[in-house]
Amino acid sequence: MVHPFAQLQANKEAQARAFENPRLRFLLEHEPRAFLRHGDQDMEVTVENLRNHTTSGLRTRGVFIFVGFVPNVPALGVVLERDTGGYIVTDETMRTGVPGVYAVGDVRSKPFRQITTATADGTVAAIANLEGAVVAEGSRRAGRHPAAPGGTRRHPALRRRLTWITLAAYGRAALLPGAHTRSVAGPGGRSMSKETVPFYKIPDAPPHVTAGAILGRLADSVGFRFRWASEGMVDTDLPYKPAPDCMTHGELIVHIHDLLATSSKNAGMPAEGPLSASASVSEMTFRVLDLCARLSARLKAMPDTDLAARVPAIWTMINGPLADCLTHIGQMLSWRRLAGAPPAPADLFRGLPPAGR
Ligand SMILES: Cc1cc2nc3c(=O)[nH]c(=O)nc-3n(C[C@H](O)[C@H](O)[C@H](O)COP(=O)(O)OP(=O)(O)OC[C@H]3O[C@@H](n4cnc5c(N)ncnc54)[C@H](O)[C@@H]3O)c2cc1C
Repeated sequence: MVHPFAQLQANKEAQARAFENPRLRFLLEHEPRAFLRHGDQDMEVTVENLRNHTTSGLRTRGVFIFVGFVPNVPALGVVLERDTGGYIVTDETMRTGVPGVYAVGDVRSKPFRQITTATADGTVAAIANLEGAVVAEGSRRAGRHPAAPGGTRRHPALRRRLTWITLAAYGRAALLPGAHTRSVAGPGGRSMSKETVPFYKIPDAPPHVTAGAILGRLADSVGFRFRWASEGMVDTDLPYKPAPDCMTHGELIVHIHDLLATSSKNAGMPAEGPLSASASVSEMTFRVLDLCARLSARLKAMPDTDLAARVPAIWTMINGPLADCLTHIGQMLSWRRLAGAPPAPADLFRGLPPAGR
């Protein structure tokens, strides 16, 4: 069993059973890099030691690959707080950090993903949030107050005409009324509200000073500076460059995305798809900010042992791609000034939006 972390993540009983099985051997802190076929019966798996980055070969008769799951949250077109696995963080009543947005089912950060827990999430969200006119998917059809005698009376909140912004989910997270205030076109033309564009201000400081919290705060600074450096840009700004040998605005944003993708790889996150140079400015900025928010969450959640296991990649991340991001965000600001359309200045030291915003 080839496993990337120093410990297995399964429950202790399952781990004990696996360790007792004489037919299983464990290669911790390794990742497969290549699968080579030797004749019809045999193969070799090249594995990388994540501590010292040396590679070696394992001869075997076959492989079972467990790639895991990636929740399809970016498809929602809003940025929500997520755990290190990418699942949406909610409170007990399924509220996310964005007003009016609720997440239920497998897409939610929780220990057990079963049909019973998914349906229970939906029930909790619907009952607890009726006053807020919140309905999980399907309730629109049912439309009955669960507590009403005989289930025949419609709750007043449900009688209201619901404006559905979008309903798209892995695990049917429902975006419901109230989550829209400002028309910013997101990916696929979805609208993002002021609250759903991340890094409106620097997030509150984490409660404890840890190495992960400090690194996460650095990612927050990148996100906040990028957010306000790109504010108000339109698609026709993308080809601008002040001199022939400079990058264009569009190239700078793609490059910043690449740098954050490298940083997220350094932090052990799944590989990030490239950002298309032909995307709209709102899609580009959304992708950068979403990735930065996930990188921040990942870093803040990393204990020292996980960070140490990622040396030297973590050191490289700080002085390489993350530091580079700050340079290129500075260039974006300079380009905008040179083009005669500077964005309103944010309060960079205190992490606050421009005055009056
Ligand atoms: C192999 C396997 C076996 C399982 N066995 C059991 C079991 O025996 N017992 C048990 O209780 N649970 C089992 N589960 C877990 C159970 O299936 C899930 O917990 C449950 O289905 C979660 O429900 P959900 O509505 O949150 O998500 P899902 O059932 O995953 O539904 C999400 C839906 O959203 C759709 N979707 C995704 N992205 C978008 C988008 N961008 N736009 C529109 N639609 C989108 C998907 O196509 C899907 O139809 C199993 C899961 C797996 C993978």
